[in-house]
Amino acid sequence: MERIASFCINHDTLVPGMYLSRVDGDVYTYDLRFVRPNTPPYLPTDAMHTIEHLVATYVRNSAHKDGIIYFGPMGCRTGFYFLTRGLSHATAIDLMRQAVAFTAGYEGAIPGASAVECGNWLEHDLAGAREWAAKMVPVLEHYTEEQLTYPE
Ligand code: ZN
Repeated sequence: MERIASFCINHDTLVPGMYLSRVDGDVYTYDLRFVRPNTPPYLPTDAMHTIEHLVATYVRNSAHKDGIIYFGPMGCRTGFYFLTRGLSHATAIDLMRQAVAFTAGYEGAIPGASAVECGNWLEHDLAGAREWAAKMVPVLEHYTEEQLTYPE
């Protein structure tokens, strides 16, 4: 089988940030990288799960909700994929900037975290989600479209 495109980027030079991973027609896939690859600690599964719930809830309640396809974790636990349709890159960056800030400051019940709404509702960590999201706030603070290109 062929090696898929996301395995072809150089993970040795990748640092935390936001990158344009793929373009499939009008669908953009962004790589929201929290952790430099192969440098632990990785995102803990419980905190990662809570970030998924909070960021997905934020973007799907935003003014751009109709352009949101997906937000979810990478299996390597170094980041997330964010898929959009019909949004500019500047809007996608801005949404992620807002969503990580929202997560970093979130208080209250985790949305969707009940047995009927979630596949593993006990595996959440709001304090951890806040802590990891807070690390991404300065990374995205002045992020530009030019920075969406993966490092060589
Ligand atoms: Zn869940």
